Amino acid sequence: MLVYRDIPTLQNHLNNLKNNEKIIGFVPTMGTLHNGHLSLVNKSISQNDFTLVSIFINPTQFNNIDDLKTYPSDIDKDLELLRSISEKIIVFSPEPNELYSGDIRLDQFNFNGLDKYMEGKFRRNHFAGVATVVSKLFSLIKADYAYFGEKDFQQLRIIENLIIEKKFNVKLIRCETIRSEDGLALSSRNNKLNFSSKKIATNLFKALNFAKDKIEVLSIDEIEKIISENLSNFKEIKLEYFIIADEQNLKPIKHMQTEKYRAFIAAYVSGVRLIDNVKLY
Ligand code: AMP
Repeated sequence: MLVYRDIPTLQNHLNNLKNNEKIIGFVPTMGTLHNGHLSLVNKSISQNDFTLVSIFINPTQFNNIDDLKTYPSDIDKDLELLRSISEKIIVFSPEPNELYSGDIRLDQFNFNGLDKYMEGKFRRNHFAGVATVVSKLFSLIKADYAYFGEKDFQQLRIIENLIIEKKFNVKLIRCETIRSEDGLALSSRNNKLNFSSKKIATNLFKALNFAKDKIEVLSIDEIEKIISENLSNFKEIKLEYFIIADEQNLKPIKHMQTEKYRAFIAAYVSGVRLIDNVKLY
């Protein structure tokens, strides 16, 4: 498996593949890979000649310096894992200065309102950071397909919008959320939780499922109230938001009109910020 840390040698390799009309899938990650990431990688392997996996903890998308400093990282383990999956994987794991050409800062974007609520509201500049790095990677890699997880649904919608706005010639493939047996959405941040906190964290998925079960019998206000009261019984959980929003424009709703809604949640569990969502149809 080829692992690149610098842009020119990666670009050289990609040019060779493209000259030979190879189809390339791209899976951007921040590493500490788990089965959620691997589901994206495996989907890409099954649909492309080669899969480029980027492993890069993007500094500009962290609005909290401690969160960046404590973000888990285990590149050796990640490489070993990817090596065991397929020879058709290429890894790109640059230093921040390499990817940002020594100028680590945010670009400005118009997200057409998709960043107004939820993560966009609670994590200032987070999506500008995500869009900055994804734009750099899209421009560099020029993949045919890019794989994004529904676990980060708002991010996925923002990247779909970015592809249209910036006319990137890549097709985004949505990949469903992979969970552990008890329902907890897999996340690199789960590594920061101990066994009992992980168990408590399953209440976020339970809250989303409660909304899914009751959406036709209770009002959205009632659902929100019950969920927030219920979660407040756990001293380890600090709810940041629970929102039901339109799947397309991500606007929070109070009354059901069309069918395509999702329930979204963000909460700190034992000090670790987790997000999750489910579709309600
Ligand atoms: P991250 O490393 O957290 O930036 O995630 C890289 C990609 O993997 C993003 O497209 C995520 O949405 C996706 N991803 C993360 N966790 C999961 C999961 N549990 N199921 C499916 N996709 C995931």
